[in-house]
Amino acid sequence: MNLESLPIASLPEMGEIWQKTLNWQPTIWQENQFQQLYQLIVAGNRQFNLTRITEPEDFWEKHLWDSLRGIAPKQLFIPGIEQGKRIIDIGTGAGFPGIPISLIFPSSQVTLLDSTGKKIAFIETILSTLGLNNAKTLLGRAEEVGQQYQHRQYYDVAVIRAVSNVSVCAEYSLPLVRKGGLAVIYRGTWTQAENESLEAAVEQLGGVIELIEEFSTPLSNSIRHCLYLRKVTNTPISFPRGVGIPNQKPI
Ligand code: SAM
Repeated sequence: MNLESLPIASLPEMGEIWQKTLNWQPTIWQENQFQQLYQLIVAGNRQFNLTRITEPEDFWEKHLWDSLRGIAPKQLFIPGIEQGKRIIDIGTGAGFPGIPISLIFPSSQVTLLDSTGKKIAFIETILSTLGLNNAKTLLGRAEEVGQQYQHRQYYDVAVIRAVSNVSVCAEYSLPLVRKGGLAVIYRGTWTQAENESLEAAVEQLGGVIELIEEFSTPLSNSIRHCLYLRKVTNTPISFPRGVGIPNQKPI
């Protein structure tokens, strides 16, 4: 079967789901961009093995819907998200959640950071094929980029999905966020015990946990959590620690 030829928005209820869950509907241009993105990812996957999620409905739910649910445009108003002009996606992989975010916020500047050169090279071909001028790639490690003056405390919003455990994600993301900005950590399951360890880490990094949202995905009914960390004070210069240390010794 040729997956690329399958329309990802084939189910009539998908339009309703966007409306019901995000109080938002993609424009025809955005629908076309989503479809092209799907085709590019499926084609690229043959070469680079970028993602396991390639079936059309799976792609729609886990890559498009999930990416956008984290920054839910209207339904979930968090000051700082809607006005987010500078957004960084840390460990973007094949471009998620960053590319869908750049498609729905054309006036934002989205930086797609990953430490793997072949992923960054692949994303560059996607950006040029889709004509996405408001997104750019950055090859590097979050531990190093978070110490570079041109990136440190520069972003309004940092998003991070499926990169590491939660306190590592906090250490990668909060140093990059300006005071008053938000780090959004996408998670599957979440427990009270994780909550306590996160609280201690976030405090050391200059943030507070503003909101933890639990929701289920609309097609497969899988549980998801999004953690919203507000940056309230400057992150001490000792964070992020050197390459590999956050993972070896999480805060
Ligand atoms: N965020 C994407 C998603 O949800 O589909 C990709 C997740 S993939 C499992 C994790 C990605 O994080 C990989 O592409 C890896 O190269 C990148 N990564 C891991 N540690 C990193 C670090 N310290 N700095 C930058 N990128 C990192």
